[in-house]
Amino acid sequence: MLDAVIIGAGAAGIAAARRLQDSGRQVCIFEASSRIGGRVQTDLQWADFPLELGAEFIHGEKAVTRMLVMQAGLHLLPVNRGGKLLWGDPARPITKIDRVERKLILGLLADYTNLKTAQLPTDISLKGYLMSRGWDQSAIQTADVLLAQTCCAPIASLSCEDLRREMLADHAGGLVHGEARILEGYSALFNWLSTGLDIRLNSPVSSVHRHPDGIMVTVGQEAHVARTCIVTVSTAVLSAGKIAFAPALSDAKLAALAALRMEPATKLIYKFKELFWNPAVTYMAHRGHAPRWWTPAYGRQGADAVIACYITADSARKLDGMEESAALDLGLSSLSALIAVPRARLSAGLSAARRVSWADQPWIGGGYTYVPAGSAFARPALAEPEDGGLFFAGEATAYDTNPQTVHGAVETGWRAAKEAAAYIRARTL
Ligand SMILES: Cc1cc2nc3c(=O)[nH]c(=O)nc-3n(C[C@H](O)[C@H](O)[C@H](O)COP(=O)(O)OP(=O)(O)OC[C@H]3O[C@@H](n4cnc5c(N)ncnc54)[C@H](O)[C@@H]3O)c2cc1C
Repeated sequence: MLDAVIIGAGAAGIAAARRLQDSGRQVCIFEASSRIGGRVQTDLQWADFPLELGAEFIHGEKAVTRMLVMQAGLHLLPVNRGGKLLWGDPARPITKIDRVERKLILGLLADYTNLKTAQLPTDISLKGYLMSRGWDQSAIQTADVLLAQTCCAPIASLSCEDLRREMLADHAGGLVHGEARILEGYSALFNWLSTGLDIRLNSPVSSVHRHPDGIMVTVGQEAHVARTCIVTVSTAVLSAGKIAFAPALSDAKLAALAALRMEPATKLIYKFKELFWNPAVTYMAHRGHAPRWWTPAYGRQGADAVIACYITADSARKLDGMEESAALDLGLSSLSALIAVPRARLSAGLSAARRVSWADQPWIGGGYTYVPAGSAFARPALAEPEDGGLFFAGEATAYDTNPQTVHGAVETGWRAAKEAAAYIRARTL
């Protein structure tokens, strides 16, 4: 009998399988789609450098993924986004942050950081908290772009208690000097980490039955039995009932799933025949419909001129609802205003453009999971094992590290592997 069946070959599933197999356990991963990586997906064809369609950055100077990059013999491309942010207004192009905007952003960031120690009588939304600190509607819009959209969440709903929990649990460290891309692409890391693992692609698990003598998972017509099972799929997939559990999941788990939210996350990516922006640009943002922009080729000498807009939550839902060409048009107009290059010139210089919508991925269903105000119990409850050897990992379960990240997902995989190994040990002594 297998020691563990793992559902999903994303960051969490691969990390869990690696740990278990390296400690002598027999493991198999079932992956619904035709590739590994989940929300890590590098396209090696579209540009002349590895282009990230999903996760792009390593966040934090001590993120565990940095250590893995070193072990894999891969290379980091540092990028300072936060410290080099250019902030604009949809009506006015930007070349640098003006003094007023700078003061506003620094003030918002200070209040955001103060959440760590703020005395809040109840869990309130980030918007509620910032308004209680005296910020007006226009400042809230700036915070929405820079703080809430980063969390793939509407600012009026995002839980301050969960943000505070993350700040206290954070051990990945500083962002300003701690962000990097992987030179060879994020997928290269998981190709390396998954070497020698038994991964079955195109194998969606449809049910998980817990029996006294093991766990049986169903994949198509086949049944596979293991001592333990680690579920790593997204909360959107779990909430959609794509996997049937028998016996049913506990009430606490179902309450957590009902509380958690996964909003759309979409990238608009443009490749130009010439560079229309200063090569030193790393991050630009404004309050327009397509608000946050960065430069995927930053630090790669002579690479294709590619710029990407990353949109989440309500704005992403709007863009996902349009025809792809209309969404790309809207993004191009936004870029034209931001960098003060006439729209017609940008259109003439465009060599390719694409939209990548993660809500449309049937086995993912959105960007990453956020906690609405009043539901701060949900991450630890989702992570809690169920009786009979059923364990849970994946970014949404990262209550003791950074959720919504690759390194957080990896750490949840390691945590679930440890729990599964202890469970097996206790039954084989
Ligand atoms: C657009 C975007 C940008 C991001 N940017 C960053 C970033 O810059 N830095 C960062 O650290 N993080 C970023 N993230 C977040 C990061 O990608 C995720 O937190 C992390 O990759 C999640 O890994 P996971 O293993 O928890 O889940 P997933 O990657 O979702 O893995 C779960 C796997 O389960 C599979 N699956 C689903 N259902 C079944 C089933 N029934 N049977 C079998 N398999 C199934 C799925 O196909 C998937 O492969 C970004 C995410 C997105 C979407």
